[in-house]
Amino acid sequence: MPTASLVCVGTELLFGQTINTNAAYISSELQALGVSVLWHHTVGDNPSRVRQTLDLALSGSDIVITTGGLGPTQDDLTKELIAEVMGEELVFDKKAMDMMIAHFKSFGNRVPTKNNEKQAYLPASATPFYNEVGTAPGFALNKNGKTIMAIPGPPREMRYMMEKYVVPYLSALADSALYQQTFRTFGIGESRLETELLPIIEGQTDPTVATYAKDGECAVRVASMRPTAAEAEAAVKRVIASAAEIVGEFIYSYEDKELHHVVVDLLKEKNLIIATAESCTGGEYAQSITSVPGASLVFGRGFITYSNDAKKALLGVGEDVLSEYGAVSEQCAAEMAEGARLAAGSDIGVSITGIAGPDGGSVEKPVGTVWLGLSFGGKVTTVLRVFPNRGRQYIRRMCVLEMHDIVRRAVLGKGPLDKRI
Ligand code: AMP
Ligand code: MG
Repeated sequence: MPTASLVCVGTELLFGQTINTNAAYISSELQALGVSVLWHHTVGDNPSRVRQTLDLALSGSDIVITTGGLGPTQDDLTKELIAEVMGEELVFDKKAMDMMIAHFKSFGNRVPTKNNEKQAYLPASATPFYNEVGTAPGFALNKNGKTIMAIPGPPREMRYMMEKYVVPYLSALADSALYQQTFRTFGIGESRLETELLPIIEGQTDPTVATYAKDGECAVRVASMRPTAAEAEAAVKRVIASAAEIVGEFIYSYEDKELHHVVVDLLKEKNLIIATAESCTGGEYAQSITSVPGASLVFGRGFITYSNDAKKALLGVGEDVLSEYGAVSEQCAAEMAEGARLAAGSDIGVSITGIAGPDGGSVEKPVGTVWLGLSFGGKVTTVLRVFPNRGRQYIRRMCVLEMHDIVRRAVLGKGPLDKRI
């Protein structure tokens, strides 16, 4: 398996002004090609440190990819230093210059300035990566058993060069095929998930099984590298089938689809309309539904009923319920969900009412206490969750995810999970 290092050049990256999104993008592309990324180097626009970093990167892997520092200004030095380190002359590339002139022309008939010319010089034995979306060309240079590729820093140009040149270039080098698939779980913690999956993880070198946890959710990536793509795919599918036997209850997507997308797609598939009634999430649940393209097929109306008055006026929650049990109660969640469904004339009504903090908690109802309601198929279900108090945003996000999972399960004919494990 070929190995690679990234060298991201730019002082702004070290200052924290620019987030190094190029590194994440390039790494995931390389991973998908079966190239193993061993190092990420980030260095400022300083000649001796860039030189030092290039030497280090070249000594640590077969392939080095640099981004940034290909611009026209004095501090753009990546190409010059690569040429130096690789023992190459820089030579003028007429096609690169012509393309640059055409590029400027297409922007309101502008002309390049003198310093742009420097961008048309490339190492003598390099393969040029001509740039159709910007001015600086990139290149690949194969020498002394190493491959170094330089691509521009602006993310748009970087992505263009990755797709058009780097990915095809590297796929031709790969001697084996990678297949990977990610499934996603909800309601089971990462360490518990890993423990449950231990029988299939332990002692395995291929496929590899890796878990990635995010608030409340956990993704599991299964990857195999085999001589052919078909063998790799079969190996991955076998492991996923075993995982499904153990933790299938918690898996909501086998295709790395996000929970809200899964829910919207399910509602579309079953022709169901959902209406929402939210208190502590202030519309975040509806926002999550409507962030999915085509949500208008499943969603027409949501209620943000933050105050008791709103709960009464818009959803018909009873005064007696509010005074006897309070807004954060099973009874209120039930009336909110039913009220939303009736008011919207929808198939499903959901409700979220809880204490997101930091204030408002009590001994009986600590911060993180949430009641979720669902009115569907002629019955109303309520679920109590007490989320850990990791802050207001965390609790609100957990409410949204939990509500999605309740809806997903109900539509599939299942009750809510008894508890999160
Ligand atoms: P350069 O090619 O060094 O002139 O970079 C031009 C611009 O691209 C910088 O000002 C940044 O905004 C952006 N950029 C450079 N490197 C990165 C990176 N690694 N990740 C994200 N943006 C970058
Ligand atoms: Mg720069």
